[in-house]
Amino acid sequence: MGRGFRIGRVAGIDVRVDWSLLIIFFLITLSLAGGVFPSWHPQWSPGLAWLTAFAAALLFFTSVFLHELSHALVGRAQGIAVKRITLFIFGGMAEMEHEPHTWRAELWMSIVGPIVSLVLGVFFLMLAGLMVGPIEVDAANPQQAFAQLDPIATLLMWLGPINIFLAAFNLVPGFPLDGGRVLRAVLWGITGDLRRATQWASRLGQAFAWVLIIMGFGMMFGLRMPIFGTGLVSGMWLAFIGWFLHNAALVSYRQLLVRESLENIPVSRLMQTRFVAVEPDMRLHTLVEEHLMPSGQRAFPVLNNDRFVGIVCLQDVRKVKQDAWSGTTVGDIMTPAEAVAQVAPDDDAADAMSTLSQRGVNQLPVIDHGKVRGLIRREDVLTWLALRSGEDMGGMLPPTGASGGKPVR
Ligand SMILES: [Zn+2]
Repeated sequence: MGRGFRIGRVAGIDVRVDWSLLIIFFLITLSLAGGVFPSWHPQWSPGLAWLTAFAAALLFFTSVFLHELSHALVGRAQGIAVKRITLFIFGGMAEMEHEPHTWRAELWMSIVGPIVSLVLGVFFLMLAGLMVGPIEVDAANPQQAFAQLDPIATLLMWLGPINIFLAAFNLVPGFPLDGGRVLRAVLWGITGDLRRATQWASRLGQAFAWVLIIMGFGMMFGLRMPIFGTGLVSGMWLAFIGWFLHNAALVSYRQLLVRESLENIPVSRLMQTRFVAVEPDMRLHTLVEEHLMPSGQRAFPVLNNDRFVGIVCLQDVRKVKQDAWSGTTVGDIMTPAEAVAQVAPDDDAADAMSTLSQRGVNQLPVIDHGKVRGLIRREDVLTWLALRSGEDMGGMLPPTGASGGKPVR
């Protein structure tokens, strides 16, 4: 989720919009302006329908944002730092620094989101009721009741149910939905076993995801489903959401397994101790010809009289044109020590792996009293995990640069 732009800061938390949000924003506006609102109000001008649809979409994502903000604020009250809130194609997510340490924290943090959506939904409906007053509903022709509503009441009558639907959908007890997290917290509280609780919640999440995928395919072939209706586009959309949830359920559980396997393993056990270090005044052509090409090493610690001063990697070299290599030194292009995330030999390998994911890098220098003792590389950790579990766990971790490692809700 690296692509997008920042729209502001609320309560000290960065709020970002992913580009993919614009697609769904457009689709919602289009379906409201081109279908829902004209069917309620045939007499509306296209301009009025579009304006109301745009405002409705805007308020819908504001509601999603408030849902996420509630997770973030309750999380922070429990001592978990919030990196940012991102709005994207499937709604929103609050990225936390780590998972809650107690089942109670998990419970409060998860349940607050659906509560906020429910309260918003009821609030919008009550507001619409207050604005309109009692209206006559002809049981034979209920559409007629909508036609009496002005634009603001129409918008509220759409926003209310959609927020209530959002609350209900999120309460489905499958991980990683809020309801799945609530279930996990409860199971965790009862059994005291986070891993088993996550396994059960993740399996239910996968099962629910499959239900959505199958329903989605049914709709694509003309079947009518309760709540979701029918149609090719809605069906594809539902199947797509199911696929996303399935992945998320799987990845969350595997991340927990990885974390568990790495806990209490010191970095010094997994780090590479055979590595080449270079000096800041080395020319780039020497670095490439004598070190980068002949060895498999992709990142080199830079030492000045044995002191760690930075790190230089393949990507840094690629930014310099080849004819400038002889005029450029390692010191010119390296990432200086202050800007490099470092770990100590006694640090937990699980924390090192989180740092690797969060920074989007493939290796970290292991520093002890200003001296480089080794490099801890993503691939070495994966090899170690594979050896231990007897299977390839390469697919269990998100690739470099993905929002992996950080729990997302
Ligand atoms: Zn939520």
